[in-house]
Amino acid sequence: FNREIQRSEKMELISHLAASIAHEVRNPLQVTRGFIQLVGEKAEGKERQFLQMAVQELDRASSIITEFLTFAKPELDDLKTLNISEELYQIQDIISPLAAMQSTKLVVITEPELYVLGSAEKLKQAIINMIKNSLEAINNAHGTVSIHANRDQNAIIIRIIDNGEGIEPEKLDKLGEPYFTNKSKGTGLGLMVTFRIIEAMEGTIRFSSTKDVGTEAVVRLPALPKEQPGNPDTDK
Ligand code: ADP
Ligand code: MG
Repeated sequence: FNREIQRSEKMELISHLAASIAHEVRNPLQVTRGFIQLVGEKAEGKERQFLQMAVQELDRASSIITEFLTFAKPELDDLKTLNISEELYQIQDIISPLAAMQSTKLVVITEPELYVLGSAEKLKQAIINMIKNSLEAINNAHGTVSIHANRDQNAIIIRIIDNGEGIEPEKLDKLGEPYFTNKSKGTGLGLMVTFRIIEAMEGTIRFSSTKDVGTEAVVRLPALPKEQPGNPDTDK
């Protein structure tokens, strides 16, 4: 038991450290990218090619940071009552520009009051990593990602459905394994982070998919009671 506590304190420490490093590293990365790109535009031949490769590698570093820590704050993160529907609308605002760039529709359909216990920042990170995968799986003109949320007895269900390229059945079990990626520029870290966050909230994730038809991810989280209408003892 003692060991467990030590372990989770360590994890806490590491994740705070990582989050603050990410914040500090992001800016110099962006600045360096800008300069290299400027020089690269004027360069020719091999030199130009090398500078383009340098920019791509910097982008890779940025996406690792994004996948892990965009929404992680260096402060202690406290557990709060979250309304999933509000969080989903905020996520829609964050991701819409990205979806619009590839003319993909992003639809959110949710019951208004769906309460869970968690960290808003981490939950956003988890869901956004999944939506990004959906967007990256879509390569046609009629792309749609729809996010549905509802309550099912004691669980809150969030479904993320896309009509992208799908996943081969033999690969479904590998989702969430560190470094498992099918993309030339993938990190294979996005879903690992997502699984960790959802599991920390005592939830589960299931994927189902049909190749060339699309993918559905189902997140189940323990529901909090709808409202606390005062203390029943004092109401008597
Ligand atoms: P990355 O996106 O960097 O590859 P992830 O952990 O986010 O890493 O995803 C791992 C792999 O799972 C992806 O490379 C992709 O092959 C597959 N995958 C995840 N979500 C989807 C999806 N919605 N549609 C198709 N493939 C997916
Ligand atoms: Mg990803």
